[in-house]
Amino acid sequence: AQQRYASIRDKPAETLCGTRIKLKMNAGLMADLPSLKGSGAEGVGLFRTELQFLIRNHMPKRAELSELYARVMDAAGDKRVVFRTLDIGSDKVLPYMKPTDEPNPAMGWRAIRVGLDKPGVMRMQLQALIRAAKGRPLTIMFPFVAQRDEYSAARAEMDKALARERILGHPIPEHLEVGAMLETPSLAFAPDSFYSEVDFLSVGGNDLKQFFFAADRENELVRRRYDTLNVSFLNFLEGIVYRCATLQTPLSFCGEDAGRPVEAACLAAIGFRTLSMRPASIGPVKSLLRHIDLGELREVIHTGREQGAQTVRPAVMDYLRGKF
Ligand code: PEP
Ligand code: MG
Repeated sequence: AQQRYASIRDKPAETLCGTRIKLKMNAGLMADLPSLKGSGAEGVGLFRTELQFLIRNHMPKRAELSELYARVMDAAGDKRVVFRTLDIGSDKVLPYMKPTDEPNPAMGWRAIRVGLDKPGVMRMQLQALIRAAKGRPLTIMFPFVAQRDEYSAARAEMDKALARERILGHPIPEHLEVGAMLETPSLAFAPDSFYSEVDFLSVGGNDLKQFFFAADRENELVRRRYDTLNVSFLNFLEGIVYRCATLQTPLSFCGEDAGRPVEAACLAAIGFRTLSMRPASIGPVKSLLRHIDLGELREVIHTGREQGAQTVRPAVMDYLRGKF
């Protein structure tokens, strides 16, 4: 499939109306790194650090992690890598951690909640990231933030880690960005001060959608029940885009929908300018984006909404026919 899109690999994802969309890749394993060149990705928009923890049978040491993160940054060169801190919880159980028995793991003690309640591992990870950067720019993102204080507390941990490294005489990143994933509906309605405090937000559509529709993303009985192009969900996403634009918060989208060409086109039409996806999706998404006019697609979406459609998919498919 990569070969089919080879001719546009080094071309920008620019729509017919002249809008540039940044396409980045999701990664997590060292095996993903060659895709940085092969896919034409403009960086890593989501590096899922938990994968490195999940493939081991012991807690990785700080030095081990630091070396690994340095290799990721080396491979990325001038391109940015957004390192997401550990998103583990009772569904992604580390074999070397005491399991917790929770009735509802997806809504349970996971991600930043674990990181803040038991900060040892998060501190170690932040330190490993700072050391891996060796003074280079560093981008960090906290998963599953549900309210402002969680972000502030995590950011304070980052500041503490920086201070500690400085005292130890280690180089500090020349530029640091600390963002949050927007994957609980609550954050869409967080106070303005939250939007001003974060350096950027990235919509984790997989989780955001499951909590928006109250439909478990792992449950075959319900996971395909609600369309991403459902008008309620698009309205909700548009609200997030609007708030970020108003409060000047850089925004991206890194859930699986970013890698589905039709969904990606609609995300671009409602205002997303950075999409992060699995590497193999970059070609197909770019190809479609290069054949559409975002103004026209936005009009199709708005018309569908005005006509009372539940989902704009049929209208969107009609518009996109012949453009793939
Ligand atoms: C998401 O929730 O959309 C996301 C990107 O994170 P993950 O799939 O790892 O939960
Ligand atoms: Mg998620």
